[in-house]
Amino acid sequence: MFQNMNGKKTKKQVCLIKQKFICNHCEQAFKHDSIMELDHIVPKSCGGGEQSTNLQVLHRHCHDIKTRDDGRYHARHETWIRSIASW
Ligand SMILES: [Zn+2]
Repeated sequence: MFQNMNGKKTKKQVCLIKQKFICNHCEQAFKHDSIMELDHIVPKSCGGGEQSTNLQVLHRHCHDIKTRDDGRYHARHETWIRSIASW
């Protein structure tokens, strides 16, 4: 179940095992019918990379909430960058 054809785990599977099948956002265990999505902890738009330390698995609805919050963070960050530029 947790192996590809070539015997290598996918990033999502590695994260799931690391998280002990718990969603990092709502801290509820994933169920067999949960929709799970791979999330970049630091969004790529904020310079986050593809390394496993920057990846986590979230429920789709939790991912939606986080993405919205990331957007807010990003907007604040942009404002801050602009304010530095005017120093
Ligand atoms: Zn969740």
